[in-house]
Amino acid sequence: MSVTLIRNGTLVTMDPDLGEMGGADVLIEDGKIVDVGRNLGAPDAEVIDATDHIVLPGFVDSHIHLAQAQVRGIAGDWSLMGEYFEHMLGNITGLYQPEDMYLGGLFGGLEKLYTGTTTALDWSYPNSVEHAERGVDALQDAGLRAVYTWGPPGDDAAKWWYESDVGLPEEQIREVYDTRIRDDDLLGLGLGLRGPDFCVDETARADLELARELDALASIHMGAAQWPSSEYNPEYQGFGCLDDMLGPDVNLAHANHFSQEDIQHAVDEGVSFSSTPEVEMQMGHGIPVTGKVHEAGGRVAWGVDVCSDVSGEMTTQMRIGLQTQRMLDNQPELEAGEEITSVSLTARDTLEMATVEGAKALQMEDQIGTLTPGKRADIIMVDASDFMTAPVHSPVQTVVFETNPHHIDTVLVDGEVVKRDGELLNPLVESEHDRFVESGRRLVEEAGIDL
Ligand SMILES: [Zn+2]
Repeated sequence: MSVTLIRNGTLVTMDPDLGEMGGADVLIEDGKIVDVGRNLGAPDAEVIDATDHIVLPGFVDSHIHLAQAQVRGIAGDWSLMGEYFEHMLGNITGLYQPEDMYLGGLFGGLEKLYTGTTTALDWSYPNSVEHAERGVDALQDAGLRAVYTWGPPGDDAAKWWYESDVGLPEEQIREVYDTRIRDDDLLGLGLGLRGPDFCVDETARADLELARELDALASIHMGAAQWPSSEYNPEYQGFGCLDDMLGPDVNLAHANHFSQEDIQHAVDEGVSFSSTPEVEMQMGHGIPVTGKVHEAGGRVAWGVDVCSDVSGEMTTQMRIGLQTQRMLDNQPELEAGEEITSVSLTARDTLEMATVEGAKALQMEDQIGTLTPGKRADIIMVDASDFMTAPVHSPVQTVVFETNPHHIDTVLVDGEVVKRDGELLNPLVESEHDRFVESGRRLVEEAGIDL
């Protein structure tokens, strides 16, 4: 049995019963948190000294397309329905070879781990079984906990998007799930559905039924921009043909333009929401759904979305999502001539959306999201002695507002240390670097994108 003791840290457990504890320890056995508290004894444990560190659960990114890592920094001036659909879905993703899926997923995953995200929903668009297998290889080689989410292939936007009547490739999905995912403790399966916004009703329902047969999370891009399920669309129909199929295994990405009534309906049915505020505000999705979901009694989970556009790290999303919602909540009172004398959401709220709410959205809250005995040991440690983080008055505020990726100096996934003293331990960071860069150069060149 492997035993690790994280000793003498400032614990931000995110567990409502355990709260925060100074000078406390986390005891890990075989990848599982078995105890949390002060002065825990474990004579044979490998000790990680957490003095002057904030110890908390790893972040959960509930929506990202990891395989875009090698084309990072190209979409920063793009809109969704303009350049993104034209260049990314209509061009670049069709040029991906299996090796490109691997290299993007690998370095996207390594960036996640370096920056404190220990679990991600990776929304993939494999053009073949081999593409999917290399996408799975990437997650395994990176060492990330992930929901590999099989979306429509990226090789033919006209076939797979808009008014598509082609269902997801069931046989291929079953094959890769059975041979590569089912027996991997760190991996789960999701299906990336188009929903009625981007395929005909019959296909939208059949894809969701397939997800249920496979016991896979159903993640759907829905209700953004001028898409069919959008209040801006004159033929707006809310959830349309999926209205009677909603449930806790349905995860909506973006969802900016559902009415408050529809959001209430979805929250009541247990649907989860992934909000990716930075990309949504740039690309024209609309106002993040955070406030509507909150008003309906739910919470969103944060995500990055396209790492071809913005950084793959999560603290930015925590801050942008929080401050945007505060601004929106302040505005009606300001316009009524009233002073703002308190804020709506708190720093703790946004940290919950980056940890435990992400775990719930991925239906993994019994495994991850808090430092609770019985859960898996996905843990990060923030250096609280750095000249940019010290002194710590509120550990939660230090994490949310003061922490940059280089302050995250230790990361554990399932009890395994993957980052220590600020360095990733994975040798692939070095050995695959050149192939990764070459893949990105080739894709951008072949796509003929003028930047
Ligand atoms: Zn997305």
